[in-house]
Amino acid sequence: MNTPLSKSPWARDMSPEMARFISDLPKTEHHLHIEGTTPYDRLQRLQPEAYRDAPEHWGSEFRFDSFDHFLHVLGSHGLAWFTSPERYALAAEDIFARALTQNVRYIELSFDANFAAAVGAGPCAIAQAIHSVVPDGLEVVVFMGMTRDAYVNGCAEVIDQALRSEFITGIDLHGTEPLPLLDWTKRIWEAARAEGKVTKAHAGEFGPASNVREAVEILGVQRVQHGVRAVEDQAVLDLLGARGVILDVCPISNVKLKVVPSPEAHPLRKLIDAGIACTISTDDPFAFNNTLEEEYAFVHTTLGFGRDELRGLARQGIRNALVSEQKRKAWLDELEGVGKTGASAS
Ligand SMILES: [Zn+2]
Repeated sequence: MNTPLSKSPWARDMSPEMARFISDLPKTEHHLHIEGTTPYDRLQRLQPEAYRDAPEHWGSEFRFDSFDHFLHVLGSHGLAWFTSPERYALAAEDIFARALTQNVRYIELSFDANFAAAVGAGPCAIAQAIHSVVPDGLEVVVFMGMTRDAYVNGCAEVIDQALRSEFITGIDLHGTEPLPLLDWTKRIWEAARAEGKVTKAHAGEFGPASNVREAVEILGVQRVQHGVRAVEDQAVLDLLGARGVILDVCPISNVKLKVVPSPEAHPLRKLIDAGIACTISTDDPFAFNNTLEEEYAFVHTTLGFGRDELRGLARQGIRNALVSEQKRKAWLDELEGVGKTGASAS
């Protein structure tokens, strides 16, 4: 982790000027799981025998065999680390420190209800622990995510508590798409909005475009995590466009999980060309060994996004950040100035 952009395999043949441009963009991260960001160096110090080597899944050519394979890697490391609110705070400290070095201004950080139930301290204590380590210069909002069977499988109390917690800004449905959408979900998503929470849902990653439709029409979300398979159904794209739904896309995650057949086949440009608002994020940096700067580098080097398009991605992120209008305007003003003096824009 923490590969400098100039040495990143995702930034091959990128000019130093472009690296500087990406670095200078004020950026936001809308799709980041704390349990997918296990602080491996801390885990190594804790259990040096068990975690001696760099994980094989960190290589840029590595691909997970399946979503279950990915969940096993994530879960086994995550469960070893995330055992108390204090451990959440330490992981969050590392995430925030790394964000500041990349000019990231805003993070929507989610933790998982199943982990919260296992920790046993309550979701409020976890969210509070995360908030307690937010540094100056970074805005952070906390979401609680949950699997499609969470409410009926041991997390009802945790979910009910989260809806009442002032430290939790919203809820998210996590990416176990092989499971159907169960009846409890619509009720909880409506209850969350009645409590003033923001609601999101993972859909259209391993599941089909119809799952994206379901998230929008049944759960009523304005924010879909991934949603890239919406590209397979023009009617779903039309629905997203008509309702102004935002997709928080994680390109390197989609590559390493083989959601797309090859890096070049990633549909981000098609989605944007279809008029869909997209942001880019890292998803699970422990699993994918990626940074937000590398996501920008990837869409430049592999998908051919130029400066204006990279700026457009950062602009969507700032527009959809849950911050004051004053802060948003300041970031947008700064964004428009990046690369406009000195090096010529291309
Ligand atoms: Zn995700």
